[in-house]
Amino acid sequence: MKSRSVYRAHPDHASAAALAREERGHWVMAALYPSSSSAKTVARRVPIAEMMPAYEPAGAYEAYAARHTDGTALWVRYVAGDEPVPVLPDRMSVRIRHDGDGPGYSGIGIITLTVSTRCSQCGGPRGFDTVIPHRFHHDGDWYVADRWANKCGHVDMYDAVLAESREVLLPLVPAPVPLPSPPADDSPAGLILAAAKLWRGMHATQAAQMLDVRGHGEYAERIRAELRSRNGHMSAKQAADLLHALPSPVAEGGVQ
Ligand SMILES: [Zn+2]
Repeated sequence: MKSRSVYRAHPDHASAAALAREERGHWVMAALYPSSSSAKTVARRVPIAEMMPAYEPAGAYEAYAARHTDGTALWVRYVAGDEPVPVLPDRMSVRIRHDGDGPGYSGIGIITLTVSTRCSQCGGPRGFDTVIPHRFHHDGDWYVADRWANKCGHVDMYDAVLAESREVLLPLVPAPVPLPSPPADDSPAGLILAAAKLWRGMHATQAAQMLDVRGHGEYAERIRAELRSRNGHMSAKQAADLLHALPSPVAEGGVQ
């Protein structure tokens, strides 16, 4: 990566946007904020280029905010163009070797964990698309655990990943899916279904994010409320079903 410091009082968004534009679809750390709320606010503005001229036109960039060891990092990528770029999922499942917590030898084990796709150190995307099985031999038996490589270069140790999976992850601002061309049905549910058709595996959090960008914040909140009651298990299609099932249209801006 080029020498471009993100440790500065005034983030250089013009340079970050230019760097991201050089390699479409590649995530670039644009800035580092001491407060997570600032980072999240900027992450919401980047995709719509609101007060962020470096990221014009609206829809050309995606962004998310994620924990960094020195604050909260803003990551952006350039997505303008015809071909869709791969969606960055929020979570990844991996198998790790875990030999037990108890005192003394408690046997070798393989456990499957779900962790964030964001690097715990810099917030950059983890190598969720590089996961490969690693077979190893121990005491007469064969085991399989996963290995992956993070593009940022930070190495995930199994113990750290296990600890991370056990703590409550801070809510992340997910990368919104690129906006589809206006569908015939441009109701909030119609928008979600059109996007879900293009991006398989689209999650309800991404559906809510897309509705935010499209000015349907009240519907996005309804989806998030349902997501919480389902402990985060909800696809975009289920979110669309939820909106279809609403008894009456939610008044835009009318709900406290
Ligand atoms: Zn990293």
